Amino acid sequence: MERLETITDPKSLELIERTREFARSFFEREGTHGFSHVERVLNLCINIGRKEGADLEVLALAALLHDVARPLESAGKVEDHAVEGARIARRFLRGLGYPEEKVEAVVHAIESHRFSRGPEPKTLEAKILSDADKLDAMGAVGIARVFMYSGEHGRSIEDSIKHFREKILKLKDLMYTETGRRLAEERHRFTREFIERMEREMVGEV
Ligand code: FE
Repeated sequence: MERLETITDPKSLELIERTREFARSFFEREGTHGFSHVERVLNLCINIGRKEGADLEVLALAALLHDVARPLESAGKVEDHAVEGARIARRFLRGLGYPEEKVEAVVHAIESHRFSRGPEPKTLEAKILSDADKLDAMGAVGIARVFMYSGEHGRSIEDSIKHFREKILKLKDLMYTETGRRLAEERHRFTREFIERMEREMVGEV
């Protein structure tokens, strides 16, 4: 579901559309970190951002640009996609004459969106982007992405379950916003039930 209808200023919408096209051009193929992940993170950001009273324009731009350098990292061309993505975003938004203060707000959110490394998110928008990115690894979508990843990397069902236990089921404790935490609890419960059922099936119990 597209939630951008909450942004009504035509200039803002035009900027977001231009950014969407720019961001899309970095993604050649789908998969665990394809552009559909970006679109889902955008929807989550708008949903959470509305409830938390965030700057939706800054948030939408950050969501759209947060993974532009992900394909470069996967190809071994850059070391950290958050750092490189922030650089690409800064250049792009400055080129459009976007106000410097807002450029830096977007850049900070991108730089700090990775929960496993990089700086801590300091602004509300950065916290929401980080929460949305983690939420997309949880719930039904998260399950689909884990197995997509396993397929891409020749990983077994057993190792996928291990990944759920070691990483995915810990994400709910890393949320920054109240709304993010609420959504995470719901997705966590669904994921846990799925894994427990899976483990019972694996031993032939059901
Ligand atoms: Fe992401």
